[in-house]
Amino acid sequence: MKFLVLNLPYQSKIIRKYSCSYFARGFLYPPVELVRLSTIIEENVIPGDEVIFYDAVAENHDEDTCIEKIKNIQPDYVFTMTSVDFISSELKFIEKLKLFAKNPLVIIGYIPSLYPDDFSKYGAVLDGNFETIVYNSLGIRKTQQKTDFIEIIQNEKLKETEHNPDLIVHYNLKFIKNYRYKELFSKGKSGFTYWSFGCPYSCSFCIKTYNQHKVRFRKTENILQEIKYFAENGIKNIRLLDDNCTLKKSLLKDVLKFQSENGLKFNYYGLTRIDLLDEEIVDILIELNFKHIMIGLETINENSGREYNKIFNIDLEKTKLLLKKLRKNKVEISFFMLFNPLTEKFTDIKSTLSFLRTMPVSFASLSYIIPYPGTEIFRKNEQHIEVQNYPEFRWRWKKDYYLNLKKHETYFLRNFYFTNPGRFLNLLRLFFEHPSQAFDIFYDSLRYLFKSNKEREDYF
Ligand code: SF4
Repeated sequence: MKFLVLNLPYQSKIIRKYSCSYFARGFLYPPVELVRLSTIIEENVIPGDEVIFYDAVAENHDEDTCIEKIKNIQPDYVFTMTSVDFISSELKFIEKLKLFAKNPLVIIGYIPSLYPDDFSKYGAVLDGNFETIVYNSLGIRKTQQKTDFIEIIQNEKLKETEHNPDLIVHYNLKFIKNYRYKELFSKGKSGFTYWSFGCPYSCSFCIKTYNQHKVRFRKTENILQEIKYFAENGIKNIRLLDDNCTLKKSLLKDVLKFQSENGLKFNYYGLTRIDLLDEEIVDILIELNFKHIMIGLETINENSGREYNKIFNIDLEKTKLLLKKLRKNKVEISFFMLFNPLTEKFTDIKSTLSFLRTMPVSFASLSYIIPYPGTEIFRKNEQHIEVQNYPEFRWRWKKDYYLNLKKHETYFLRNFYFTNPGRFLNLLRLFFEHPSQAFDIFYDSLRYLFKSNKEREDYF
């Protein structure tokens, strides 16, 4: 039997994860969840079976090329993952795929698991617990010699199982063409991984709160083995895809100890919350050689913070000193900020910029909050949201709320980068050091700012 794990094609470079999706400007990550799935399948199939991982995004393949390639592969089973933001075009492709697929598909995704009736006609729909369900199904297939694998998956899905992040020690790099992926502003080969899955916080806008609320760490010994495996395969940069890479201090300490005992060194990149930084963690990050810490600060407006359920109990002056220490040690810092067009005004953007002027951050972005279905923000504001479900999915604030979107974005970017000489020079330095990534960012940003196709993704 041939098992195909497919990252669906898209018209431009995107990152597709179970919990979020976004445009890849100057960087590209593999869909690690699908690469892990390929490894789980390969380690649990019957001799003679074949597992193929195909990333149509990284290959730059359009839909027709992708279909031709799949026709040549002739897979028996196709596993794929949908995103939250590009779901309408993904569904159109899934419809085409279904026409020549030998068996029903296995569709993993937040939106399909939220609206299973709309997707079950295409195959088995799996939620965030897909690794365990597929693993258990493969075990049943192996021991009971049952032939209808989709039926096994459908039955397995009905059982109450939990995501076990240690079904494999680490994913197999052989599935991906490593040179096609890159971390932003990095040199050399990058490895992408999760040390944990899920998030224990409850931000009202975040889909993690729906069915990935529990955080599960991989076993430390597996993480350390993966680090060694990355080093053996020439990886220089490690991008942690966890939602909060500083959540478990003891793990960071174990990694640091392991690396110094084994003479290993990487450049690290990761995302976290501002209240998950303290003096000790900052020292560990510096020792681990972190190059970039991304922080979802979201807002400085107290009312919005309450609305987002994201209030930080931090001493701002102390935190500023911690960030300064990171910057002094050449760690770039990014802040992700949100704008709520329902409750916030242009003056809030100005206040955010004044605040950012005092902070030692290298990069910042301002995004309009997206009211995703399944979140608290969505439930509370339904009268302000334009909702359209199957087959053209759309959930966004009513049109009027976007009237000033581009004005706000350009104002924010102009004032953040161009009125602060230090920040601007740092950006120029990074652009000169990484010209091809700089070109991608520049080209895509100009295309975004000057071309409006009124599609869903234009509202990012
Ligand atoms: S901390 Fe981040 S991942 Fe966790 S719920 Fe909040 S926004 Fe989502």
